[in-house]
Amino acid sequence: MTGPAAVPLATARAHAKVNLHLGVGPAREDGYHELSTVFQSVSVSDVVTLHADDAPAPGGPGVVTGLRLSSGANPEVPLDAGNLAWRAVEAVVSEYRREHGPRELPGVLLDLHKSIPVAGGMAGGSADAAAALVAADAWLAEEYGVAPRGVDKLLGLGAGLGADVPFTLKGGSALGTDRGDRLTTMMSRGPFHWAMITNARGLSTGAVFAKLDEMRAADPAKETLQPHLDTGAVSHAMISGDPYQLGPALHNDLQPATLTLRPDLRKIHDAGMNAGAINGIISGSGPTWAFLCEDEAAAQEVVDQVSADIAPASGMVVRSPDAGAHLLY
Ligand code: ATP
Repeated sequence: MTGPAAVPLATARAHAKVNLHLGVGPAREDGYHELSTVFQSVSVSDVVTLHADDAPAPGGPGVVTGLRLSSGANPEVPLDAGNLAWRAVEAVVSEYRREHGPRELPGVLLDLHKSIPVAGGMAGGSADAAAALVAADAWLAEEYGVAPRGVDKLLGLGAGLGADVPFTLKGGSALGTDRGDRLTTMMSRGPFHWAMITNARGLSTGAVFAKLDEMRAADPAKETLQPHLDTGAVSHAMISGDPYQLGPALHNDLQPATLTLRPDLRKIHDAGMNAGAINGIISGSGPTWAFLCEDEAAAQEVVDQVSADIAPASGMVVRSPDAGAHLLY
């Protein structure tokens, strides 16, 4: 697909996230849960490139003609309009056409270079959507001869694609309320160092929320299942910049449900703590564990020891906070 006819139009990068706090309220009537979550972007990122196809845009409103993974095949990543990056490009095209009038556009081939683990609770698909929004915005602004909308004006389109897309657009440190997509920037001193221990078997976010609802309904008074919507402790700890203050403030309401669905993950927690982590929490809905460590060397030690001890686990060292989605060229 990236033969001589495919001309690069724009390339953007977006980062994965870790939830330092994930408070989950009761299920709402619209099916979503009220969230109170603290995000930080982490240093692992995906890169999305838009190429002009030598074939014209397909008939109808769409422009995307194909998508490939330049980082290697992964059967879990859709290569069609089910991919969030594909949908993101089409959303920006519709917006430009609505605002600035119809225009003949070339077909667009998408190239995804993924480093963020798939279905690992690190918002990889959302990051691809965020990078695709920024790249498509830059390309279309040039086509139409107008100023790009920029990240702040892409947030609404991002929220329509998925609850984590606005944060992957903004990056840094933020409190997310409502579905997690209503963002307030937070202060943080850093960097913090993490060993992210991923797992070959992914976990469905919807199944984890459903399990939490079921566990709460079965035992409504249970302390460990109550919603923790107060983010005061974690926000103080972030400002301190001290990982030993942040460690005990990390919290995830989804963790009991994730561990009920996947009891095998408990031994990864034990291995990470034995290897010297300050604290470990499930990242988002899992199955990735995020182990907060004293420094980069300590995080590498956790990755090395856990992957040596537990066969299907592997890991990476990341730093937080990092940047939002941005244009590379
Ligand atoms: P979150 O933390 O936002 O819940 P996640 O990191 O757990 O997400 P993703 O890597 O975003 O999970 O993948 C979840 C599912 O989304 C995949 O199994 C896949 O079917 C679908 N998907 C759609 N677009 C993408 C994409 N660009 N990359 C990866 N998965 C995608």
